[in-house]
Amino acid sequence: MQYRHLGKTGIQVSELSFGSWVTFHNQVDVKPAVDMMAAAYEHGVNFFDNAEVYASGKSEEVMGKALKELKWRRSSYLVSTKIYWGLHDNVNEKDTLNRKRLIEGINGSLERLQLDYVDLLYCHRPDKTTPIEETVWAMHNIIEWGKALYWGTSEWAASEIVEAIHIAEKHHLHKPVVEQPQYNMFERKRLEGDYVRFYKEYGYGTTTWSPLASGLLSGKYKDGIPSDSRASLKNYSWLKKHMTDKSKLDKVNALEPIAKDLGCTLSQLALAWCLKNPFVSTVITGASRVEQVHENMKASEVKLTQEVMDKIDVIFEIKKEEEED
Ligand code: NDP
Repeated sequence: MQYRHLGKTGIQVSELSFGSWVTFHNQVDVKPAVDMMAAAYEHGVNFFDNAEVYASGKSEEVMGKALKELKWRRSSYLVSTKIYWGLHDNVNEKDTLNRKRLIEGINGSLERLQLDYVDLLYCHRPDKTTPIEETVWAMHNIIEWGKALYWGTSEWAASEIVEAIHIAEKHHLHKPVVEQPQYNMFERKRLEGDYVRFYKEYGYGTTTWSPLASGLLSGKYKDGIPSDSRASLKNYSWLKKHMTDKSKLDKVNALEPIAKDLGCTLSQLALAWCLKNPFVSTVITGASRVEQVHENMKASEVKLTQEVMDKIDVIFEIKKEEEED
């Protein structure tokens, strides 16, 4: 496993990490969570991602119990959580980054995770109604109290991130240091577009999500929806449309000969493709069983040449822009 700096912070994250969205509580309980996290850790993973909204807090509970069982030294791994949607359908408690919610939110997450602090705390989405200054101050205070060590954003617009950084600089507060955007062969625009200036100008890190587009890029949906897959879950039926989209499946099928030539699986190819981007600090993987973890972690060994990257761009109909001076 290789480790990359989280942007220009001093902290290093394994280039492949492990997250619990959809899977923890909905698909797996504590024992398989322990097995998957142990497998990931043995492969060198040092970063585990979560969010308060995942399974309405139950995902954090499962991870907390798993960490208790695993008994790893706290300094040997990083845990993150994310706040925005909230757990209660009530005014001031949902879809917000107000001060009260953030502070109550982190306290609840730490209780469920059975931790004294998280390493990274994200604002899971931007809040268009709370002044960014209020959010920046609350995140700064949470860090000063030792409840989180670094903070970041997830799917914020470029202008919102710049505003948060400038407010923090003006008041000498802890700045956001990392963005968590979606990044895979189908969804590359933001990470390869708007955000590029953050890596260059501010040294912003990125922890990217859904590298397999929820499993589509593994090739498992080419003959329909497997009964044991994410898209067959009751609460995720909205994914079915995406998993049976013919033009997407054609692209996945077209990747097969490339993976075959490289001697890797489609999942490993899709993960190695994400890793090729130097602005990615870590690719957060997901898995519903331990075999997937073992398969995915070997993606670090797959090296993609520019020729292979170009072939993939052709499949995904990416037009090359003129090189700038
Ligand atoms: P992926 O796109 O990699 O999808 C993971 C799912 O694909 C697995 O749960 C499994 O589903 C299937 N899969 C994984 N590996 C294989 C394999 N080798 N062969 C076949 N199927 C496989 O990642 P996620 O969408 O889970 O996202 C990763 C993490 O990113 C999340 O856990 C979360 O921490 C974070 N995230 C953050 C978001 C944000 O807004 N900030 C949003 C979403 C995710 P199954 O077996 O059930 O089909």
